[in-house]
Amino acid sequence: MEVSIVEECGFCFGVRRAIRLAKEATCQHEGIYSLGPLIHNRQVVDQLSAAGLSVADDLREVPDGATLMIRAHGAGPEVYQQAQARNMQIIDATCPFVDRVQRKARQFTEMGYQVLVLGETDHPEPRAIVEHSQGRAIIVESPQDLKKLSLDANVAVVAQTTQRRENLEALVVALLPQVEELVVANTICEATTTRQQASVAKAREVDLMIVVGGYHSANTRRLAQICQATGTATHHIETAAEIDPQWLAGVATVGVTAGASTPREAVQAVAERLHELAENGNRGEADDHQF
Ligand code: SF4
Repeated sequence: MEVSIVEECGFCFGVRRAIRLAKEATCQHEGIYSLGPLIHNRQVVDQLSAAGLSVADDLREVPDGATLMIRAHGAGPEVYQQAQARNMQIIDATCPFVDRVQRKARQFTEMGYQVLVLGETDHPEPRAIVEHSQGRAIIVESPQDLKKLSLDANVAVVAQTTQRRENLEALVVALLPQVEELVVANTICEATTTRQQASVAKAREVDLMIVVGGYHSANTRRLAQICQATGTATHHIETAAEIDPQWLAGVATVGVTAGASTPREAVQAVAERLHELAENGNRGEADDHQF
């Protein structure tokens, strides 16, 4: 069985930067908190927690004067205001590409546009983007959501950084006949697009795709969806231990890809486990033939 890892996969620039800032912070400060898990990867969050980075689900759980890390997804202006008012030291790991979406949403709102954020309603990144637009932008998940809205004449669109370009194109096509003026900022980050394209290309070549990454990671879930959509059997796992040997029955080629918050070691461990299972399978077959 041939196992190949998609070259463009795993940690992106923003996640690498957030982890570097967190590691530096744990060497320099005590009492460090991130508002929500720093990245959507349990194993990495556990390692950082052992180094001294605690996860707070709410700002009220963070003591006054503590060090607060803002994660790559960003946070709304109120979080910064409240943290400053409570003398917290802020380490801002908001990815510069996420910061750009927040600025675009704010600018378009100030220019009088009705701002639509293409993204997941329950994800912290689009929610923070809305807060940066004075709470006025509206999150839409797909063109179908437009039916529930009363659209203004002038509409601006931004996208959660991990969206698929096809989703953005579909939203634009649906909006065009319904508005007088439409402004679109393609805020999907390059790392997302290249990872999605490379993973789809791999999925089209192989018999089976394994997508490695946190179950809460939006970009990993999306990678799994788009690989599955090629028609190739696809499994989303967090660790190598979850691979079911039965998935490999009759499979000659396996592609492995990973979300932007997945460390390279986790991807490597999956590839090694697949090789191990393939070898065991071959040995089993050879034994069978001896009977
Ligand atoms: S996926 Fe893109 S926007 Fe998100 S953290 Fe990584 S580089 Fe930044």
